[in-house]
Amino acid sequence: MYKVNEIFYTLQGEGAHMGIPAVFVRFSGCNLRCPWCDTEFTDFTHMTSEDIVAAIQDLYDTPNKRRKMVVLTGGEPGLQVDKPLVDALHAAGFYICIETNGTRPLPDGIDWITCSPKQDTTLALKKVNEVKVVFTGTYDPEVWRGQLEAEHWLLQPLRYNGEWLMQSGIDEWEDDRNDNLPETVRYILSHPFWRLSVQIHKIAGLR
Ligand code: SF4
Repeated sequence: MYKVNEIFYTLQGEGAHMGIPAVFVRFSGCNLRCPWCDTEFTDFTHMTSEDIVAAIQDLYDTPNKRRKMVVLTGGEPGLQVDKPLVDALHAAGFYICIETNGTRPLPDGIDWITCSPKQDTTLALKKVNEVKVVFTGTYDPEVWRGQLEAEHWLLQPLRYNGEWLMQSGIDEWEDDRNDNLPETVRYILSHPFWRLSVQIHKIAGLR
């Protein structure tokens, strides 16, 4: 049984697959407590791998000539995703992506790994497809380049929330923004190895 918070169909809003339709499976629970985290992942329903596959198939109710993409996310999906689930999703014809903080080993066979490492954590992963770092401004994201092998390196602005503002001591920011996009852009311009990633699902009003 897996603890699943929600399953929904939308566009992938971030990273190299930005704009591609995908079914997201959000697993409950995370082993980290990032102060800016705004993801609701505490509620859950117990589901078997058969339940999960059936729920995804229900959402893909139109013939789709593209490969059908599933994104396993959380919380931290690495706490729960295992080989039987990977095999069940492949048997049903899905292309499997995962969005992980990288602190947990993953089962073999996942088609696309996005690692979003967090400051002061120890990585269990060495080789992934893309690295997507939230630019907090509290440390240099270059530290990850010595620890991970990846094809895509993305930097994403931090969206401020109350807890983050309290912990960071930030009491004002540029213009009336509620994120550090200008600082992120400036960092990338001076560190051109990185590429900007913004959350287009929020711009498009999607989940
Ligand atoms: S690793 Fe991700 S899901 Fe977990 S607390 Fe941090 S931002 Fe939230």
